[in-house]
Amino acid sequence: MLKKLTWVLLMTSALGVVFAWQAQQPAQPAAAKPVTKFGVPVKAGPMDAVLVKDYTPASSLVVPETRVTRARFPVIDAHTHSSMSRIKTRADVDAWVKTMDENNVELSVVFTNAHGAEFDWQAELFLGSYPKRFQVWYSIDGSNPDAPDFTARTIAELERAYKKGARGVGELTDKGWGVESNERNALPRARRLRFDDPRLDAFWKRCGELNMPVNIHIADHPSCWKPLDAKQERTPDFQTYNLADKDVPPFDELLAMREGMLARNPGTKFIFCHFSNQGHDTAALGAMLDRFPNMYLDVSARDYEMGRQPRTMKRFLEKYKDRVLFGTDMGRDAGMYHGWWRLMETGDEYMPGRIWWPYYGLELSEPVLRSLYRENALRILNWE
Ligand SMILES: [Zn+2]
Repeated sequence: MLKKLTWVLLMTSALGVVFAWQAQQPAQPAAAKPVTKFGVPVKAGPMDAVLVKDYTPASSLVVPETRVTRARFPVIDAHTHSSMSRIKTRADVDAWVKTMDENNVELSVVFTNAHGAEFDWQAELFLGSYPKRFQVWYSIDGSNPDAPDFTARTIAELERAYKKGARGVGELTDKGWGVESNERNALPRARRLRFDDPRLDAFWKRCGELNMPVNIHIADHPSCWKPLDAKQERTPDFQTYNLADKDVPPFDELLAMREGMLARNPGTKFIFCHFSNQGHDTAALGAMLDRFPNMYLDVSARDYEMGRQPRTMKRFLEKYKDRVLFGTDMGRDAGMYHGWWRLMETGDEYMPGRIWWPYYGLELSEPVLRSLYRENALRILNWE
């Protein structure tokens, strides 16, 4: 009995000490309240000061890294730009051809983004020395579509450029500011030229008659229409393209403009670049391809869209292997090409990319690679 009482007294005084000690502690600030996320107690620390734009985690993953310095089969690159490839002189073109040779790139389709005299100069630069290594495409003058002679003038330049060597039109862009327009020179919204504008129908028809495919950039990555906040999907490097608060139509409204142009111009081949900016939803994109046999895609600049969903994208490319062209759209450095071959051909995992989504290789089969790399271009483009 005495023993028990001693024990109770001891306990009581011990608790008293604990309570007294607690009372002396300063009250904890509310912000430091422990937070648990997914079962992990979150603590404040140096990483809280890291800016999102500086966040480049180094991976500890030990998995095979395949170096692919040459495409497995010959390639026609259906999407390059003379400007992005920094081409100004014949020596630049020579250096590009050397890199193409090393990478098994047989031919590059060059978007000159030019018409008139500037197009002629570029056509001579590329075709003058390498007529079998390049195609040159030209771009329309989209300014002043209200002029009464707009359609006739645009068709006249098409025919002139064709005679000077142009074998396609584009890349023509409407990110919301109008065809071949941008934020600085855009017309008031109601007057902007759109891809489904009837003023372009006679032009599209003439493109079909001349077998001039058209490369179309419509809308942009869907994340451009989302705010630049903590939920923004793409890396800060891409915020320059953001349109969330701009005077442009919604993403879906722009994509819907494809339907009129495709339906009214069945004899014209439209190649929608960057998976038509719908690579995030291959089911919806496949439904469009099913509806419109004159619709084609290129994969250019959407390495990240492919690499983040390797199984879905592989199934899509197997199903639509006759409708998709390979293209890069990222300059002409050797390492750029190597990244594409690795993504297309290997099963490598968690590859670093140019966005914060790691890529997973698609391991495309030989028939799919051959179709995308070359055979579709031979069938769809103009080789006269
Ligand atoms: Zn491009």
